[in-house]
Amino acid sequence: MEDINRITRWEIAMDKRDKYLASLPKCNKCGEPSEENPCGNCLKIAEDARKQKIKDIKRLGGERAFNEFTEERFHNKKLLERIKSNPNGSFYLYSPSGYGKSHIATAIVRQYPMGLVISPHEIYRRVKNFKLEIEREEINKLVKNKYLVIDDIDTKSGGPAIEKETYSMLYELLNARWQNYGGCLFITSNLSLDGLTVKFGDDRLASRIKGMCYEIELKDGKDYRSIDNRK
Ligand SMILES: [Zn+2]
Repeated sequence: MEDINRITRWEIAMDKRDKYLASLPKCNKCGEPSEENPCGNCLKIAEDARKQKIKDIKRLGGERAFNEFTEERFHNKKLLERIKSNPNGSFYLYSPSGYGKSHIATAIVRQYPMGLVISPHEIYRRVKNFKLEIEREEINKLVKNKYLVIDDIDTKSGGPAIEKETYSMLYELLNARWQNYGGCLFITSNLSLDGLTVKFGDDRLASRIKGMCYEIELKDGKDYRSIDNRK
């Protein structure tokens, strides 16, 4: 008897609940009963998407990159296929400005949540610290990042002292990635690797890059030239 009473009470409660839910307005987005519109769940999904977009804009280097640097919008499909056929490969892409180096590199790494596009200047700003352990930790994060783009490696980054430090940091970073079989790396530049050596008056960085990257020259339009001089 006690059990039957309990079941009946439970049925009444469920019935009340169903009636209550049926009496509620429906969420415009997902159709679930809700007193709020859109419902709490839809609001949370929208808020998460908004936060993710802010993160993505930051890690890809800006709003233009976020909106425009996609595979669909990249015109040189032959090069896209060439790079995608080697998913763990590293590439040194060079050409004059406007040929789509940053575009293709960004389009590839953006698909991975940790994919990051960073300039040498930003690396300097991130890593430079009074505490050596913090510098190590920051370099380590970049070493461990499996989808990294170092954008515009040949650009100047403030006075000669900073430039020298940035150069050392870049060398240290690339060396550590090489030592640790770091994942997919893109480096973009206006200069060939030989041009990079001339510009910095030092061939350490260019030699290290040669040892780990396919060197690809983007030509105007749909063409490119690829050199494999990896050791
Ligand atoms: Zn909803």
